[in-house]
Amino acid sequence: MTGTSRTIGIVGLGLIGGSLARDLVARGVDVVATTRSEATRADAADAGITVVGDVRAVVGEAELVVLAVPLPALSEHLAGVAAALPAGARSPTVTDVGSVKGPVTAAAASALADPSVFVPGHPMAGTEHQGWAAADPHLFEERRWALALDPPVALGRWAEAAALATAVGSEVVPVDVAGHDEAVALVSHLPYALAAAAASLLRSDEGTGLARALAAGSFADLTRVAGGHPTLGADMAVTNRRALGSQMEALSGTLQDLAQALGSGDAGADEEAVAAWFSAGREGREALEAARASPGVRHRATLDREGLLALGRRGGRVVGVAPAPPAAEELDVTTIDPGRPT
Ligand code: NAP
Repeated sequence: MTGTSRTIGIVGLGLIGGSLARDLVARGVDVVATTRSEATRADAADAGITVVGDVRAVVGEAELVVLAVPLPALSEHLAGVAAALPAGARSPTVTDVGSVKGPVTAAAASALADPSVFVPGHPMAGTEHQGWAAADPHLFEERRWALALDPPVALGRWAEAAALATAVGSEVVPVDVAGHDEAVALVSHLPYALAAAAASLLRSDEGTGLARALAAGSFADLTRVAGGHPTLGADMAVTNRRALGSQMEALSGTLQDLAQALGSGDAGADEEAVAAWFSAGREGREALEAARASPGVRHRATLDREGLLALGRRGGRVVGVAPAPPAAEELDVTTIDPGRPT
């Protein structure tokens, strides 16, 4: 089911870790996990997960270990994994699901004796809810899952993490760490910030009664993710602050363009510029929809690290991968590649 991995270890059974564990158990995969809360441990055991005492026990029993704790806790848990890892090729592969990849990759480089076993990962799946109670075994179906392969990530280790992601129905996007963090600042962390900014305008009881009464689909859609636990947005913003800062500057420049086109005081609006501004928005939205609706023809390919990264940069995905030894220089993959003629 998951390539070379027979037992999957999971650290942190919240929304993401719990969803993954429940999905894998439903597919007949052995899952060994640890998590903090006693209530979650009991629920997880009832759901068919082998719950163990700590990270060391997870590392001792799993071929592939997934860290699914909040961003600020990742480094500490990685250090726990590092202390428990056996040396050499028999060491399990380790991946994570954190929404920002730079800091955890740096932490892996300094904590692990062999950082080639660590594959930085990020499933592009989630909801505004948190914890085991929100876990959904179908969360990863037809979603994208970013997996970084900057050196020293070993290609065979990457294949193992990719096999896990494809086993639960995701398409894997090969990324480099910096490119990932810039892209998610735009498509994930900026939306969280925007949702919070817009929703916060309605929080005062004074003068917002009418607006609250009239708020309909557009406001609800824009602010949906502001309804989740604020620590999720805050953790992502702080951990990816530079890339998010650049995107916020770009966005405020765009909003200023609209303000200028609308004019101030008695000066009339530049209607042509206003229309062009909204047309640019529609163009962006259409480009997104076209990318999502692309036919998705599958191809078999043998790709090295650069070939996989180039696939990811042009919007391609890996939907199947053959197991490979850790030090492999190429991987046999099935891809959906918008850059190839259909
Ligand atoms: P979550 O629902 O809050 O679950 C995290 C779990 O980690 C908690 O349930 C907790 O287990 C456990 N944990 C272990 N050490 C912890 C600590 N020091 N502080 C707090 N919790 C600790 O969060 P999540 O949404 O699954 O997020 C997990 C990771 O996935 C994060 O790194 C996040 O960036 C990433 N991610 C989230 C989303 C999303 O939409 N939520 C999407 C993609 C990636 P107990 O309940 O047993 O205490």
